[in-house]
Amino acid sequence: MNSIQKLTEYFADFPGIGPRQAKRFVYFLLTKNKAYIDELTRTMNTLGLNVATCSSCFRFFQKNTFSKDTTCDICSNENRQQEASLVIVCRDVDLENIEKAHVHKGVYFVLGGSVPILEKNPEQKIRLKELTSTIIARANNKDSFEIILAMNANPEGEHTTDFVEAMIKNLNIPHIKISHLGRGISTGTELEYSDPDTIKNALKNRS
Ligand SMILES: [Zn+2]
Repeated sequence: MNSIQKLTEYFADFPGIGPRQAKRFVYFLLTKNKAYIDELTRTMNTLGLNVATCSSCFRFFQKNTFSKDTTCDICSNENRQQEASLVIVCRDVDLENIEKAHVHKGVYFVLGGSVPILEKNPEQKIRLKELTSTIIARANNKDSFEIILAMNANPEGEHTTDFVEAMIKNLNIPHIKISHLGRGISTGTELEYSDPDTIKNALKNRS
């Protein structure tokens, strides 16, 4: 396999990228000079070194080379920790988009994926064990605690919402209130592509 084919296969593996688009990326790179390619390769090489997974919300965050921080900037913010609300999202991009709306004052939990309909092992698709211990730990020292389920408004997102909601109810913690993003995010919409105003309204109109 030559390097054009090989790189095309890598790009075709990216989420949402088909083989034709993947090939366009490769030809785009072929038009770039050596400095551009060197910088791109260097950035990819350092990605794993500078980026860590937050031990609290499980999002990826940029680590300071010399710091031993294990939590991201949101989780290490004491004011946000005090808030009695937790937003659960499927992926990092969803968290980032909700942050842009500047409405949620509490913390997050990133599931790391969603649960496909008819999935036989749903617990392997998302961070279920970690979510359970996070909820128990967070809800324990609060009088009331709100969990906002912020999944995509498509069938897989709704299936994930149902699955996570059933799990939370199973924990039998009486002072937990579960809410969902309200209308505003129309059916079929992915959070990733929603603008800040839409997300702001969906959070305000949660029920
Ligand atoms: Zn975090």
